[in-house]
Amino acid sequence: MTKKYFEDLDVINKVFKEEEEESLPKPDMNKPVFKLYPKAAENVKAGKCATCGKEIKAKDFKDDLSKKEYGISGMCQKCQDDIFG
Ligand SMILES: [Zn+2]
Repeated sequence: MTKKYFEDLDVINKVFKEEEEESLPKPDMNKPVFKLYPKAAENVKAGKCATCGKEIKAKDFKDDLSKKEYGISGMCQKCQDDIFG
């Protein structure tokens, strides 16, 4: 029982980890910036980049930091690169 439990735990953790990697933090739509820029808010709500309107895909982000940044600004990887270099 114990060994099986640990095996299952391992499998479950792996599944969750994969899901985590594919999921993106959702930008907080209550931020003042989205009130100032309704167009950006519209894009984010539609799953698009706040600034260029390109469709957002989790795999387009190169690392967790970029995903985190998306969760803040709603910007795609390319727009982040353009701004942060
Ligand atoms: Zn963009």
